[in-house]
Amino acid sequence: MISPQVKTGGPVVKVQHHVNDEVIRPERLPNIWCPGCGIGIVVGAYVRAIQKSPIARDRQISISGIGCTGRVSGYLNLDSYHTTHGRAIAFATGMAVARPELEITVIAGDGDLGVIGGNHLIHAARRNVDLNVIMVNNFNYGMTGGQHGGTTPLGAKTHTSPYGNVETPFNIPYLVAAAGASFVARWTAMHVRQVTAAISRMMEVKGFAFMEVLSPCPPTFGEFNGYPDPLDMMNYFKDKAVVDNNADLSGIGVTTHPEDSVVVGNFVDRKRPSYQELLGDLRARVSAQGGAKK
Ligand code: SF4
Repeated sequence: MISPQVKTGGPVVKVQHHVNDEVIRPERLPNIWCPGCGIGIVVGAYVRAIQKSPIARDRQISISGIGCTGRVSGYLNLDSYHTTHGRAIAFATGMAVARPELEITVIAGDGDLGVIGGNHLIHAARRNVDLNVIMVNNFNYGMTGGQHGGTTPLGAKTHTSPYGNVETPFNIPYLVAAAGASFVARWTAMHVRQVTAAISRMMEVKGFAFMEVLSPCPPTFGEFNGYPDPLDMMNYFKDKAVVDNNADLSGIGVTTHPEDSVVVGNFVDRKRPSYQELLGDLRARVSAQGGAKK
């Protein structure tokens, strides 16, 4: 596997020790992410949400899959798991059912969660498994060099769609909300405070809590689509983001066209019984009847 930082010849980040060291493993730094990547911003927000959370650190679990965002769990000083491609939610579901007292957060990329693991995503939302899922959406498969995928905007250019993508992408918040999640949000890497606050709320929600974070990926998406400098896409998010918590989700398909708005917000926050609660009720009912029938 080629490190994106090596691949792009980006500078090696100097290791600086600071307050986040208790949640981050400083011995694992520098990280592999390219200069201008948004993943580190999301990790910073997650770390701050953990630090603010009343939940004991030894109950906080981080689970990642494969890809650039898949590397997150390796940098966190938590019980953290780097699982196989697309299977982070399946792995997390097993852990969440077996150990409901744990606060489990899946943090992975759009290709990992929404495409290769797309079936796990919709079925975990349908079951309303009590999990937090943070999807960092960089609109392409960055680690493998920039292929288009299920979240690449229509018309966007990548190494495998050099004349423009002709596949309509998933509208991920709409998909997850329609499947039944208790909480659904979308923010961008520009919205640091909102991302942190949303993660804090996700830790409180009982049920499937999902957030898409749109993120710059300068070397494998930005440079082909008019955002070559790391700040270009951040400026696009700053100028074009429209906060609308009550948005009609059917109309918020992802875009990176410089003239299009990007709708963000905490769109869904509703009470539905979680999978663990329903399982607990079932166990209690069966046990009250004298146990499982032979
Ligand atoms: S998501 Fe893009 S910018 Fe970030 S590390 Fe991967 S290739 Fe680099």
